[in-house]
Order: sequence, then structure tokens, then C-alpha cells
Amino acid sequence: QYSEPAPTSSDNLKVIVRVRPINDRERGLGGHKCVQQSSSQSLKVLTSEAQYFTFDAIAGEAIDQEGLFQVAGQPIVENCLSGYNSCIFAYGQTGSGKTYTMSGPSGIESGHNDESRGLIPRVFDHLFARIAQLQTRQVFCKCSFLEIYNENITDLLGPSEAHLHIREDAARGVYVENLHEEEVSSVDDVVQLLARGQAARRVGETNMNRESSRSHSVFTCTLQSSTTDENGITNILRSRLNLVDLAGSERQKSSGAAGERLREASSINKSLSSLGLVIMSLVDVQRGAQRHVPYRDSRLTYLLQDSLGGNSKTIMVANISPASANLAETLSTLRFAQRAK
Ligand code: ADP
Ligand code: MG
Repeated sequence: QYSEPAPTSSDNLKVIVRVRPINDRERGLGGHKCVQQSSSQSLKVLTSEAQYFTFDAIAGEAIDQEGLFQVAGQPIVENCLSGYNSCIFAYGQTGSGKTYTMSGPSGIESGHNDESRGLIPRVFDHLFARIAQLQTRQVFCKCSFLEIYNENITDLLGPSEAHLHIREDAARGVYVENLHEEEVSSVDDVVQLLARGQAARRVGETNMNRESSRSHSVFTCTLQSSTTDENGITNILRSRLNLVDLAGSERQKSSGAAGERLREASSINKSLSSLGLVIMSLVDVQRGAQRHVPYRDSRLTYLLQDSLGGNSKTIMVANISPASANLAETLSTLRFAQRAK
């Protein structure tokens, strides 16, 4: 018996669950697999009784990085070229495969031509190939890369470690003030920027005694193009593509934590739950309900306000481990992802 109804397919929001292979450490702990794929869209989780969960797609072990790109990346590129905003999120507990999914096995440095490279290099490879095919217009791309830690925004490409502020105006919509942006024209440019940002992230970690698993990283590409039609009228298309490697979703231990650690624990939980709430509200709005969407409840959702909802496309990749040792966190991730439908 299925615990939840089948998802209503909405073109604007897709939830994909990715199950990584069990690893030696998990096997060594005497663990077994407690997650099985039961169809192309559903998973069976073995708790005291079997529980079933249904999503838009399941990316089991047999789906490699290219396979995931075809489901989660390719449609997003077309959407951006048509002038619509998009977000791809990687959600899941630390160690579940978020960074593997977004960048590759050891972050972005793992070479961007090999089979194991993740969504980001593949998305930009495809994007630049598509741009080269467009003969009627030129497309300009600018990228930025930031981190949100404890509800503070830090520029990973900029010169300073000062905290940045979110602003909003009629012309630009929601934006981060003084955020460094760089023009890119090839996948190599993008990979270099990502590597630079990831290095800055590690420096921040060491200097400020923090863990990257507790921060969200947001890589944003802004595309702008103009076309002139036969009547001499120029149309400008502008869109944003946001690629987000979220903070680990594991329950942050607040018992015994004090001061900074306690503040950290509550701000991670708050921003992930506010992301969940925003997505749930948007699903209701799409079904015709009148609902307030609480974008302003966290920096992450405020920052992405113009890229969530409306005509924007969102892909949520919920990453899980199949091992019995992670059962509790896996169920919590599946419930989060289920609520987004
Ligand atoms: P997270 O970013 O969620 O903390 P990682 O992406 O760092 O997790 O993944 C943890 C480990 O599991 C890494 O060694 C990674 O290479 C490996 N891994 C994750 N997903 C897969 C997968 N689908 N196939 C093979 N190895 C994977
Ligand atoms: Mg990671």
C-alpha cells in the first residue's frame, strides 16, 4: 500500500530523489540497505514495516552523472535560454551526495571532462553549446558565488569577508548589494570561478572555525541577450540560474550547545524549514490557492525570491544514503521532499 498519493505533475517544480551507493564504512558497521527502488517514481523504505514514497523521478545507483543531468539539468538550460529563472537545489544530510551531485566527487576540481563530473559543469557545457548554436542573438553570462552561514551572506569571489545585504528595487528586483560578478564565456571560466570560490570557502572555514556542511552555497549565473526583429524592435531577455548546495539537513544538536553553536544550529534549521515552507506555499498557489509565500523568513528564500514561483522552474534533488545507519535522516529527507509535492 502506498502511504502518499502519486505526485501531481507540475512542470515548474520537480522533486528527484537520488540514492547514492552504500559505502564501505556503512557496510563495515554491519549495515544493510534499507532503501529499494520499487518503480521509476517510487521508493520502498524498510522500517518496521515497508513505507512507500513517490516522487517525480528516482535516481537510483544505476543512474550516473550524465543520466541525472538529462533529468535535472538539460530542461533547466532550455528554460533559462527562454528567459525564465531557475533553481537547482541539492538537499540532504551531510555525506548523502549533495556536492557529488552538484559539482563532482571532490568538488569542482575533479576535472571537468571526466565521467564523474556533476551537474554544474554539465549544465554550463550544455549552455555554452546551445548559445553557440543561436545565430540570431548574442548571450552574455555573468556569475556570482556566495555563501550563507548563520544567516550572514559572504561573497566567495569578492575581495572582502564583510557581510553583504539583500536589497530590492523596481529595476533590479531582489539582489545582493556589492556582490562581485564576473563575465564568463566558457565552461573553463565557470570551473575556475567555482574553484576560486571553493578555495575561499575553505579559508573561511579555517579562519573562522566553521564547517562548510553548515552553510549554503549559491552559484548564480545571470544571462542577458537581445534580439532585434524585422521591425527594428529590440527585445531583451534576462534570466537567472541558481545552483544551490544546501547545508546538511541532519538535525543539529542543540542540546549542550551554547552561544555561537546554538545560534548556528537554529539558523540552519530555520533556513531549511523556511525553504520547505516557501516551496509548499508555491505548490498551493499553483493549484489556485490564495496564500502568502513567506520569502522573507530566511536570507536564502529572500535572495531567491525572483527565482522561485511564477514562471520559474525549480528542481529539488533530495540526496539519501541507502544504509540502515542513516534511516532516521533518510526518512526525514524523504518527508521534506514529499511535502514539496
Ligand atoms: P555531501 O556534499 O552531501 O556532504 P558528498 O557529495 O561529499 O556529500 O558525498 C559523500 C561521499 O559519497 C563522497 O565521497 C562522494 O564522492 C560519494 N558519493 C556521493 N554520491 C555518490 C554517487 N551517486 N555515486 C558514487 N559516489 C557518491
Ligand atoms: Mg558537500
